[in-house]
Amino acid sequence: MSGWSCLSPETKQKVVQKLDLMSRIALGSTCRADRDIVNSTKLYIPRVRIAKNEDDCLLMIYSGVNQFLRMEFSERADGVLISRSQNSFNPEHKSFKLIPFDMTFGTSTLAMFIAVNVLSKPNILVGTIEWNNVDQFKMLCELMFNEFRRTNNFFVTSLDALPKIRVRNVEVLGAPDSHLLFFKIVCDKSVLEKVVRVGIVMNDVWQNPRMVSETSVIRNGEKHLSVLSGIVMRDCAGVASIFETLESALDAEPSDGEYVFHTIRDLGMGASEHFDLLDVPVQKLKEKVTMKRFTRKNGAYVFRFNKSSCGFFIYAVLADHENKFLELFQKETCGIGQFCKKCANPFDYWHYSNITRRIFHEPKWTETPDAE
Ligand SMILES: [Zn+2]
Repeated sequence: MSGWSCLSPETKQKVVQKLDLMSRIALGSTCRADRDIVNSTKLYIPRVRIAKNEDDCLLMIYSGVNQFLRMEFSERADGVLISRSQNSFNPEHKSFKLIPFDMTFGTSTLAMFIAVNVLSKPNILVGTIEWNNVDQFKMLCELMFNEFRRTNNFFVTSLDALPKIRVRNVEVLGAPDSHLLFFKIVCDKSVLEKVVRVGIVMNDVWQNPRMVSETSVIRNGEKHLSVLSGIVMRDCAGVASIFETLESALDAEPSDGEYVFHTIRDLGMGASEHFDLLDVPVQKLKEKVTMKRFTRKNGAYVFRFNKSSCGFFIYAVLADHENKFLELFQKETCGIGQFCKKCANPFDYWHYSNITRRIFHEPKWTETPDAE
């Protein structure tokens, strides 16, 4: 009689490819051979979210649109209570487990420890890890480090030697910069592309993103971009006010060893007529991207107003810094990124176009957005 153990490793890998994260973990803990199969099968996790609210903590690992593993951690006198659910917000679908765990910041240390343990594998690639409200970050990493030591992980000899997660983007929602320490301690630097701080600007009229305003920085010695991103729920107020905003952003001089550019992405096509009216020669950058380039402040500031088949986007950069970003500016084919139904990965499009939904549905785990 044939069974699982008779299958070839290649066939087993094909089966494992169809399994979600929890089934892979369950299979990987049955025997050494299956663990090797699980660890050698690639897995892409589009998003992981860690959020903190007072003593409670949330860990969500998404595998697709509306597909997730959700763990809520709450502090109890005798340990940490974990409530777990899969692909459902219904309280009746939760299962509970009490873990004896006695330490300061117990819930967030445990959540981080689980996240790092599960995700820091060479076969796993994470799209974005998101942090909401996670404070006391340095201490949290030290506590997590102690936990690795306590559980006899002898490879972890110092804070720098903590296992690294292969993640493309780190995102912090409405929290101070100190949390960005995270990527230095637990992210694989060779994979990291962006560290983004996101703010949401609400408005009574629109509940969908209409415009994105970004400041992007490259620091000497770092390969990734550090981005401050504001998602705005109203249409752009006119091109004159956008140019003014960009110009005053360029007035703030970058620090030594930093290169900066600013971007406005118009998601509602409101910039269309402004682009056409602008009395500047058009350059063709790509098959479907044209650009109008002009300068301000006696040539010190460069504006690159782009039109693609998906939308409009404007880059503003110091003339002295333009060369540093030329390749990045010229390779853009869409310009509205995760907000593009046509170009973005379906998960990212779903997540970002519904980003306000969480503020209404899960206020406990989302910081109050900036009011306007
Ligand atoms: Zn697009």
